[in-house]
Amino acid sequence: MTQLTICACKRGSKVEEVSLQKWKEELSKANIAYTLIDDMCGLATQDSINHSLIKNEEKHLLLGCQPKAMNNLVKHLGIDSAEHNIDLRNLNESSTDLISKMEFTAGEPRIIAYNDNWKPWYPVLDYDVCNSCQKCLNFCLFGVYKLNNEGKVIVENPENCKDLCPACARTCPTNAIIFPKHHESPIDGGEAEKSIAVGNILDGIQQSQDVYKLLANRRKASGIPLFKADQLQIAKQERDQCKCNDKK
Ligand code: SF4
Ligand code: SF4
Repeated sequence: MTQLTICACKRGSKVEEVSLQKWKEELSKANIAYTLIDDMCGLATQDSINHSLIKNEEKHLLLGCQPKAMNNLVKHLGIDSAEHNIDLRNLNESSTDLISKMEFTAGEPRIIAYNDNWKPWYPVLDYDVCNSCQKCLNFCLFGVYKLNNEGKVIVENPENCKDLCPACARTCPTNAIIFPKHHESPIDGGEAEKSIAVGNILDGIQQSQDVYKLLANRRKASGIPLFKADQLQIAKQERDQCKCNDKK
């Protein structure tokens, strides 16, 4: 049997209402039991939702935002998705046809509410690629990060993070910082938008096209600045803006 859990992203916009409604209707039609978590980001900082996420089923299906973001969020809760056979999927991109391919138990949905007013905006670290360089720790002025006894940077005070500010993610040399509720990939844990392939740039150069224009187009298409230096510049501006807002 597969245990189904859905994150509704109540304090964010990573789950589209239309997709969520479609899933709910299909599940109700098929009389499938599932757990609807209002906002996994929010509940992860408050109390333990581990027991709700993992029951004794052989398999688990977790639907929500970007799989990489959710994978690191559940890791933060002490759950290894590979070990527990958790299939993580973006609800907006998943077809309800999945229902016919898995076996679920029958029953009513169960809702785990998130009633806090705080919009849970904070970074989640991907320890598969974090090299403990401490750049994020030194860059953040608001005490979000801390070094633990093992020399690992951890997110100690998520509530200190400034709403909508993803600045430290831009300073990370390994792209280990994910803001699950950010609107853009790869900061939200998704793949970078399709970029113009390097091969196309080389073709363009051979055809004597303007290389700077080609690089600028590539940067525009990928949605992120091409050079880390650009990102640092943007990060400093975003951080300064947070400082100004704090003084108001
Ligand atoms: S960002 Fe992802 S994990 Fe966080 S509340 Fe939204 S859907 Fe859930
Ligand atoms: S900047 Fe990135 S790699 Fe360095 S400690 Fe922070 S998360 Fe890890």
